[in-house]
Amino acid sequence: MNSNSETPALTSEVRAELDKLIKLCRVLEIEGHGDRTLGFASVRDPHGNGMWIKRSYIALGEVFDYRDFFHIGLDGKVFSGEGRCHGEWPIHAAIFEARPDINAAVHSHPLYGCVVSASTEPMRPVGYQQIFFPKPPPRYEGSSELIVKMETGRVMAKALGDSFCMFLRNHGVVACGTSIEHALVIAMAQEAACEEFVKTASGNFDWSYPDDEEQERKIRGQDKNVPVFWEYYCRKLARAEALGHPILSTERIPVS
Ligand SMILES: [Zn+2]
Repeated sequence: MNSNSETPALTSEVRAELDKLIKLCRVLEIEGHGDRTLGFASVRDPHGNGMWIKRSYIALGEVFDYRDFFHIGLDGKVFSGEGRCHGEWPIHAAIFEARPDINAAVHSHPLYGCVVSASTEPMRPVGYQQIFFPKPPPRYEGSSELIVKMETGRVMAKALGDSFCMFLRNHGVVACGTSIEHALVIAMAQEAACEEFVKTASGNFDWSYPDDEEQERKIRGQDKNVPVFWEYYCRKLARAEALGHPILSTERIPVS
């Protein structure tokens, strides 16, 4: 495909990525990342032409097929899409621009992630949830308002540094990955780590956490678990869909 093409480009490679992105969105919903119709995910176009990003006005659990995504450039130019694109697309575009190693991104407002996003203390590791990030995720300290400008997104992406997840102050979380599978595992681990941290910090006892060196050793080799955990989440989603989980749509939500 011509990398400057402005026509929709639903190649088999794109379809394969979007099939995975649909699963990621629906897993996020059943795993506590849903916040009404807020929260969205994206994947870098496998042909190097911008990114594919969930449309707005539907929940993560209502993402149903490839028509629920916009294809846009990293400058926000819309190549294709029906309905409305999320206004916070610069969060994703700025990350893809700054980090060539990142190919998928999530921005959501899960409960514990939002609680920790308000903390001025770094999130310390409690148990085994932080095995995919060696140091406390950074926090974007800029405005807690929506990130709808590319210049703001770039400041946020700078705060991300070389991490794969971060907090947006008094707003929510960002989780990324080298692949869709990786981004999902990071998003899950981040929220679970936040829950552990919040509950531990709320306990009426002194507590400890491993230092950075110990944590670094602890995470070695954990990448092998990314495909294992991805498959686990897919099986769990399939069971929820088979049982007719009410939070998951069974048909496409019409564009309003
Ligand atoms: Zn947001």
